[in-house]
Parts: sequence; C-alpha cells; structure tokens
Amino acid sequence: MVKVSDIISALDGFAPFSLQESYDNCGLQVGDPSMTSAGVLLAVDMTEEVLDEAIACGLNTIVVHHPPIFRGLKSLTPDDASTRMLIKALKHDVAIIAAHTNVDKAYNGVSYKMGEKLGLADMRPLVGCNDDGAGLGVVGCLAESLPVGLFLDKVRDTFGCRCLRHTAPTCSNVRTVALCGGSGASLSADAIKAGADVYVSADFKYHDFFDARGVITLVDAGHFETERYVVEIFYDILTKKFTNFAVRHASAYTNPVIYLY
Ligand SMILES: [Zn+2]
Repeated sequence: MVKVSDIISALDGFAPFSLQESYDNCGLQVGDPSMTSAGVLLAVDMTEEVLDEAIACGLNTIVVHHPPIFRGLKSLTPDDASTRMLIKALKHDVAIIAAHTNVDKAYNGVSYKMGEKLGLADMRPLVGCNDDGAGLGVVGCLAESLPVGLFLDKVRDTFGCRCLRHTAPTCSNVRTVALCGGSGASLSADAIKAGADVYVSADFKYHDFFDARGVITLVDAGHFETERYVVEIFYDILTKKFTNFAVRHASAYTNPVIYLY
C-alpha cells in the first residue's frame, strides 16, 4: 500500500525539497499525506483537465512541476480557474504534490534531462555546482559538433517547439551547449562564462537577445517545451520505487501558449 507520504518521500529522495528556492512552494499542496494512493498522474502544470483525467482514471494523486498554489491564497472560492480546480480536488480527495525548483536544481534534474535529450556528454551545472552535481542549468558537449542550423532544428524537434526565437548565430558549428529548463535568462552570463556556443532556455526578453548579440547564440525554446520532460523524471522515480502501482502521464496538453503563423 503506497501512501501519499511515500510518494513525497520518493520525490524527496531524488530531489530534496530542501533544495527549493526561497520563493518557491514545493511539496504537498492539497490532500492528506496519510491517504492511500490509488496511483499517480503526472503533468507539467495543474489544470482542471489534468484533475478531470485523474478522477476519470481513478488516480487520486497528481504530481506536477509548477505549484498550483504559488503566490499565496487569500480565499478558496470558485472565482477563478485555479481555485475552482483546488476546490474540486479537495471534493474528490485528490492529493496534489508539486516538485518544482528542487527538481530544477537536483543532479539529473530538469536541465540534465534536456541535455540527455540533446545527447550532451560531460554535463555539469552552470551555477552552484556542489559535489553531488546539484545546481542550476547545465553545460555539456555534443559528441560531434553540429552546424548551427542543424543544431537549431534538433532543438526544435527534440522539444516539440512550434517556433524558436534566437539571436544571429555567433558560431558556424555548435559543440558546447548550455541549457536551463524554464525561465533561465538570469543564467546567460554564466553560459557565456562557461564558454558555451549556444544557450538554450526560455522566457528571454527583447533586451536579453539584444545584449547577447555577437557574444553567444541565445535560443528561446519555450518554457513548457524546455520543461516538458520533467514528467519522465517523475515517472522514473516512482516506477523504480513502487511496483504494481499505477503511474501515468497526463494526456492533457497544459502549455498555455499558442503560436499563430
Ligand atoms: Zn517552469
């Protein structure tokens, strides 16, 4: 019998919740830790569609990357989509666990997973490298250098991007790659310092691109897109830890950004 608290412990064993940033709100957000878990649904974001899917599948535990309770709640009334979802989760006895910046910073966390998908070797954190390999972002090397155009195609295809925003290439071939899943603009200087040919992250502003011109090839591959494989990390942790236990990827697509051409 797996309890919600066992799921929290399993996640904590891989990515200690104590690693989370001070502004974050990881951990059990909704539900009773002593409740028996009937199985887990995994998603990047918590939406009503994800909740409905969990209820329909009889899975009473959801693990997400982005905490649905983040900036603090003043009330729990059905006035907006987010609080309506929380009320519904409580009514249906569905527990919601968020593993956010702890999984960003853990060894083999979100950015390592990005690097793995792109085939990087010799990865190390861009910032705050502990002996255990925990830190923010990663830098690593492609097995063989790739013409920059092909590298950009690879990023687009690997992360399922509808479009890429990037600066004019500063190199003709890419070998050293810096990455950070999600909003990584603050690590641009670290990517440059690490000698990376390109820096792939998300949520860059106009002036971030401006400042990078001629210095590093900045690639914005989308917030959801660069974090989408976090659910594979959750899946591996939970399926290794618990046998004969349902763990499923949500089929709902939770990216709120739509691209128009
Ligand atoms: Zn994120």
